[in-house]
Amino acid sequence: MAILDVKNVGKRFGGLQALSNVNLSVAENTVHAIIGPNGAGKSTLLNCLVGKLIPDTGSVMFDGQSVLGRKPYEINQMGISRVFQTPEIFGDLTVMENMLIPCFAKRDGAFQLNALSRVVGQREVIDHAEHMLRDMNMIDKRHMHAASLSRGDKRRLEIAMCLAQNPRLLLLDEPTAGMARADTNNTIDLLKQIKEERDITIAIIEHDMHVVFSLAERITVLAQGTPLVEDTPDRIKGHPKVKEAYLGE
Ligand code: ADP
Ligand code: MG
Repeated sequence: MAILDVKNVGKRFGGLQALSNVNLSVAENTVHAIIGPNGAGKSTLLNCLVGKLIPDTGSVMFDGQSVLGRKPYEINQMGISRVFQTPEIFGDLTVMENMLIPCFAKRDGAFQLNALSRVVGQREVIDHAEHMLRDMNMIDKRHMHAASLSRGDKRRLEIAMCLAQNPRLLLLDEPTAGMARADTNNTIDLLKQIKEERDITIAIIEHDMHVVFSLAERITVLAQGTPLVEDTPDRIKGHPKVKEAYLGE
């Protein structure tokens, strides 16, 4: 069954048709990769799923409910959590303080700016944050400032912050961009672990084919704002249209 169902989505920026006739169906509890050349519309599509952009046409259904017209935080509460292209963590806060933010938001609904001051002394929230950090192998780093973490660990923290809200669908936009090979491999292992241990669907935008083929069960290739082909990794690998879109062959 599809947990995410995108039909005929179109999005225009002025004179540029960034997305047109996008259909995408993501099956529950799978890892689905969205690949495609730079400028293909991958991030725009993701933004349409989380309420950051509103498509001009089409529908986006999550678990049978439309996300269109809902605010990003409402979509987040429906069970969609998103990891951005550049890590969105608070560098001046410690790892633990960062982790407390989504844990607190989960308990009290929409996150409020004074959350951190109110959270002090609230045991259950702190327990949840510690549990998440232990789960993600970051408990030893809880007193470090987030800014001083390695690129891989920043990404790990950000993913942990998303998972603390118990999403049913985790969206990742190029999570390994700019990473060294070792950090990339750690991120692959982390996502595999998450997939094994949780009831979760993962949709990942990724340009690194090593990452894509290590994780994805289905792959959608986007080119010039529209899906070129959707198939299993094995079939995508040898697909002539994919070679053409990527390698100009
Ligand atoms: P990808 O993530 O696949 O690299 P994007 O979705 O970021 O591609 O961009 C698709 C196209 O839309 C690009 O040509 C980009 O320049 C354009 N674009 C993206 N966001 C905006 C925006 N907010 N305003 C105008 N053009 C945009
Ligand atoms: Mg992008």
